[in-house]
Amino acid sequence: MPRRVLCYCLLCVVAGLANAQHEEQRQGPASLFVKAGKLLDVRKGTYVNNAAIWIEAERIKEVGPISQVVAHAPRGVEVIDLSRLTVMPGLIDCHTHLMARFDDTPDAYLLGLATKSEAFRALEGAADARVTLLAGFTTVRDVENEGSMYADVALRDAIQQGLVDGPRMQVATRAIAAVGQYNPFGVSPDLTNFPTGAQMVSGVEEASRAVREQIGHGADLIKVYADWQHPTLTVDEMRVIVEEAHKQKRKVAAHATTPEGIKNAVTAGVDSIEHGHGADRQAIEMIKAKGIFLVPTVGVVDEFVLKRKNGAMSLEERRRLEQFLLGIQEEITVARELGVKMASGFDASSAGLQGKNAEELVGLVKRGLSPADAIRCATMNAAELLGWEDRLGVLEAGKYADVIGVEGDPLTNIIALQHVQFVMKGGKVKKDASIEGVRDRAR
Ligand SMILES: [Zn+2]
Repeated sequence: MPRRVLCYCLLCVVAGLANAQHEEQRQGPASLFVKAGKLLDVRKGTYVNNAAIWIEAERIKEVGPISQVVAHAPRGVEVIDLSRLTVMPGLIDCHTHLMARFDDTPDAYLLGLATKSEAFRALEGAADARVTLLAGFTTVRDVENEGSMYADVALRDAIQQGLVDGPRMQVATRAIAAVGQYNPFGVSPDLTNFPTGAQMVSGVEEASRAVREQIGHGADLIKVYADWQHPTLTVDEMRVIVEEAHKQKRKVAAHATTPEGIKNAVTAGVDSIEHGHGADRQAIEMIKAKGIFLVPTVGVVDEFVLKRKNGAMSLEERRRLEQFLLGIQEEITVARELGVKMASGFDASSAGLQGKNAEELVGLVKRGLSPADAIRCATMNAAELLGWEDRLGVLEAGKYADVIGVEGDPLTNIIALQHVQFVMKGGKVKKDASIEGVRDRAR
């Protein structure tokens, strides 16, 4: 038992309750009492000082000032003392690829498909799931597994069954792209059965069949590639994908980085635009008019830029990079001005970036969002995009007890979220970095 888990009777003394006898733990689900020095109300963007969370089994029973919650919580309950931390809801990343560990070399993707079995890819995913959880991200929306077939379904189910540690997952499985318009590129046409990074389709029949197959094999959402440098899937192809997915209560996420690709995807009725980096104003106005989400994935861009700037670049390359960055800034500025709904997604696809998901929040703040808004992108907004706003995203009664603790004040210093000290998922402590010698309790 960690040394910070105190007996509830100490709390009774603090709260001035006279009757501090130990009592038999009552029957029912295990209870926990979390003391929070500061608790972040993400809706209001303000703190509640000296707060507490009473947890029963995997759900929150009550949240509020400690004096109020202590009066209702059962006696004999375990106490986790996070008095010195800022406590907030577990974070949500809406654009992960947990099965992706490709390095930066030009042939990495192709070699990955050629040399790694789907079983190995699933185990890589398990390692990435663990580091993501320990970084404070208790839920992810995994938007395609980059050629590992249904390894993401296996990982999601293994996490659910407690076989491996990781975030709650929604998985897109294989994704759908136009024939010849997604990774890996450059494979010999003689290798007819070489694995592909997405399920390649041509025409509405193949498009709707792909959706049915993927949902049949466990997809929680469908991912489409609306473009890849140029528009690829047609509006008609995406429209049948959306119809088929919505019929089965699944949302559709569209990769789109060209104005035309974004407009095609929005016209077809998708539920979110991923990246949107090449968006013009009209495209963002269309996103706003449909009330769908933008997941701008800017953190991974900053990582990419950092690497490029450290290497040799020609003047022309530098000019193109600056242009690209200006376009992204414009995208975020216009999206904010129009009040487009945004959610956080880091888009890690290499071993080195897995678990650095909080960089997305840093990138959003760098581009003008307030820390409170950036945090909403990774909590309540993200929960809405997942359709899980009834169970995640805020610390309220009835929600899952997904709780993290950080040092300092993330409302003034978003970087605090890059050093999460405490992670609880569904009422179970997964990391408590403040305990000497114990880095985490995940397997
Ligand atoms: Zn991605």
